[in-house]
Amino acid sequence: MNDKLQQLKEKLKLLRMYDHALGIISFDFETIVPKDAREEEADVLNFFANEHFKIRNSDESKKLVLDLYKEKDSIEDPLDKKLVEYLYDDLQKTINMTPEFDLKMSEIYSKAYNTWLEAKEKKDYSLFKDSFKDVLEIQKEAVALREKKLDNYYDNLLNDCEEGVLQEDLDKFFAELKEGLLELMDKIKHSKHVIRDDFLSRNVPIYKQEAFSNYLLKLNGYDLNKGALTTTEHPFTTPIARNDARVTTHYYEDMFLSNIFSIIHEGGHAILMQNERDCDHDHFINDHVSNGMHESVSRFYENVIGRSKEYIHLIYPKLQETFDEFKDVSERELYEAVNIVKPSLIRTEADEVTYGLHIIIRYEMEKMLSNGKLSVDDAPAMWNKLYKDYLGVDVPNDAEGILQDVHWTSGFGYFPSYALGNSYNAMYVKRLEKELPFKELVKKGDFASINKWMKENVFIHANVLTPKEWLKELTGESLSPKAFLEYLNNKYKDIYQF
Ligand code: ZN
Repeated sequence: MNDKLQQLKEKLKLLRMYDHALGIISFDFETIVPKDAREEEADVLNFFANEHFKIRNSDESKKLVLDLYKEKDSIEDPLDKKLVEYLYDDLQKTINMTPEFDLKMSEIYSKAYNTWLEAKEKKDYSLFKDSFKDVLEIQKEAVALREKKLDNYYDNLLNDCEEGVLQEDLDKFFAELKEGLLELMDKIKHSKHVIRDDFLSRNVPIYKQEAFSNYLLKLNGYDLNKGALTTTEHPFTTPIARNDARVTTHYYEDMFLSNIFSIIHEGGHAILMQNERDCDHDHFINDHVSNGMHESVSRFYENVIGRSKEYIHLIYPKLQETFDEFKDVSERELYEAVNIVKPSLIRTEADEVTYGLHIIIRYEMEKMLSNGKLSVDDAPAMWNKLYKDYLGVDVPNDAEGILQDVHWTSGFGYFPSYALGNSYNAMYVKRLEKELPFKELVKKGDFASINKWMKENVFIHANVLTPKEWLKELTGESLSPKAFLEYLNNKYKDIYQF
């Protein structure tokens, strides 16, 4: 058996080489590839991804995983055992797929990405529609090919993103969340307090924003020797290698807050990546944190810390020093402005209260589209209707409507993670506040202590537990939006004085 484990690890070392190269090409693809070279680079990416698939899905690899899985109870090292279980689960998804099918799937996704970019630029959903149909079709075929699957089609996709958190849990979770958010929005709507926001669209040169981004990343504990920062259309973070977690942002001259919160959010993802255990890397089970768990961390830094009174107090002097554009803005005005609640069209620019409704709309749409209750042709009309119903806003065009997010160019299942992330962190912050003088530490800028707590409690078992197990171990409770709604109500009561 040890022999087989050794052989398996040799294969995984080789696959890691491919992953590294693929990571760099994808990073290039999403950041600086010229427009006219996009298609050719996508072919290169798909080629190497397919080579990766062929190694992973070769008869030899399959046999190793299946043999080891049969003997898994006699594997001594618990992380080796975990590795075999993960590989076995992954194999159930691809065992009946041919390399040709895998290549076709990648090609459909990259074509969808390119048509989406064009459709968004031209604000015209009809240009994306056929690609969208192809994506949903191939995703359906891929699920049908699985050796083991859940009865409901959409549950499989949700399960891929957040193991064990299915429609049954999400329906209940979102119903409670929606009710709480609408109640809170109503209170805010009736508040007489006016938040000053005239300075949010002031022009700020990009070189100043760059300097501030570096300050924020360092301040929060991101290690610039183990990562890099660059720009992209849609900010993201990617773990290229053990000592290389890269973040990206987007600078808008007339929306300086957009970059600030992208940086804090993406920096949060990267702090998790930079603090994964070495033993997880050594056993090839790193980067196995669920999307919801990851989002809980990024949104902990972005919102719980980044939009707190204490953090604004901490960064206010440096902000004044860097940007003379805001000399007439007080600390309290800045704090209120970063928390202003305004129902709007774009998810990524939404405040903490309305954000959840953007997610609920996407969840309901994915459910209807997956369960045959809505057609791809009718999707934009449904999108616009839900925005009117839940947020009270009229969608002026597809670019600011159904085409705003990149996610549907590669299928369904991701969106609920964002809302789950908010609720997960609200639950564990309650424990953090009991064990550390959290607010004082933020005010002082003592991120070493906060990050140490995160590492020892939140990150430590994130690669080996399912989201439900992890949440239970961390908080002793099961999933609920209660703590999150409580956090929002306390915060906004003070801001909007109701
Ligand atoms: Zn994120």
